[in-house]
Amino acid sequence: MTIAALIAQLRTYIPAPSSGTRSGDDPSEAAPSLNKYATLVAMLERIASSPVRNVATWAGNIEMVRRHGFASDLATAMCGVGAKVQYWDPTSGKPDLTTQDLCAYLTPAAPKPPPAHPGDAPAAPKPLLLAKLVLDVPAAPPTPSTASETAHYYDSVAPKAAQDAYAYFKVAVRPQNSHSLVNAFFGAQVTTAASSSSTASGGGSGGGGGGGGGGAKSPPHVDDAAPTLSGVRIVYGAIGANPVLAVNTMKLLEGSPLDGKNLQAAITALAAELSVTPEPAYSTADNPAGKAKARTAVLAPLLYKWCVRNGRARRWAELCCAVAELCHVVLPNQISVRALV
Ligand SMILES: Cc1cc2nc3c(=O)[nH]c(=O)nc-3n(C[C@H](O)[C@H](O)[C@H](O)COP(=O)(O)OP(=O)(O)OC[C@H]3O[C@@H](n4cnc5c(N)ncnc54)[C@H](O)[C@@H]3O)c2cc1C
Repeated sequence: MTIAALIAQLRTYIPAPSSGTRSGDDPSEAAPSLNKYATLVAMLERIASSPVRNVATWAGNIEMVRRHGFASDLATAMCGVGAKVQYWDPTSGKPDLTTQDLCAYLTPAAPKPPPAHPGDAPAAPKPLLLAKLVLDVPAAPPTPSTASETAHYYDSVAPKAAQDAYAYFKVAVRPQNSHSLVNAFFGAQVTTAASSSSTASGGGSGGGGGGGGGGAKSPPHVDDAAPTLSGVRIVYGAIGANPVLAVNTMKLLEGSPLDGKNLQAAITALAAELSVTPEPAYSTADNPAGKAKARTAVLAPLLYKWCVRNGRARRWAELCCAVAELCHVVLPNQISVRALV
């Protein structure tokens, strides 16, 4: 399947814009969608150009990562959403397909053996034939009919307690037709006291009757709710031969409220667990280390940027205050975060 066909398929899972728009918002200033499938589509649309996407396949893209350590956008984001691949091993002598988590598929189990003689080409990875990319999609996908039917699905059928908080960032020399110097995928479900209470009371935002306890209590205002994260996935790409899961940072944020303390701790954990492999293609006589320093410097700010995007899109007062406080500190690597907000 080509990347263009994958985009078309993923589009059918994106909720109609109206369901996420607040009244009074200027659509021309709308923030990027935090929806999982919209984030994947936006990432795929930054790959190369339309003519390339019309012929390039997801399988070729992933295989270039496995075989050559290619700085892929697709692989980072697909690892981010926990995609699986199905492949056939022609050397196994069996007709069965193997299903494997994409991150594991791209992470070599053992280092490649050194060449038998100096000067020989390194041993090639085992040939495998990729057959299918397996993604979690909504249980009852909206039929691609009318926008209002799709909006109805997301307003009445899809679970509301948790909301998508997905984002993809690509640092490159140009916005289009440029390979990633660093890319990153962030994904989580967020639950606020406001969103869970609205679900418990049947979904109405103004509803007074209902739910569990204090009948006279007004529902918590969304600005007062500290969002809690679950299913956190943080993957960085183009920093080495394959996409890297920021496992410690994910553990730290899992089940935690996204407040200033946790945000600062997450930034510290991320800076400690990730490192950039120098890329010889960027080396020059004046700058033999290539862009390694600049690529390292953007790692933590991308996490910060995800938090900013979430706080602003949902008007979380607490997170916005924490972010404002962090604007006065300097993130690791001497990058002032003010420029990134
Ligand atoms: C100008 C340009 C800009 C680009 N920019 C980006 C970018 O910004 N971000 C990004 O992520 N990518 C980018 N790409 C890569 C592009 O998205 C494709 O992934 C890439 O060109 C591979 O295309 P292909 O499907 O034709 O694979 P091929 O070139 O046919 O194959 C690539 C490798 O994969 C193997 N292969 C192909 N199919 C299979 C299969 N089913 N099973 C096993 N192995 C297989 C082939 O044997 C080969 O080794 C760019 C490419 C170009 C040409």
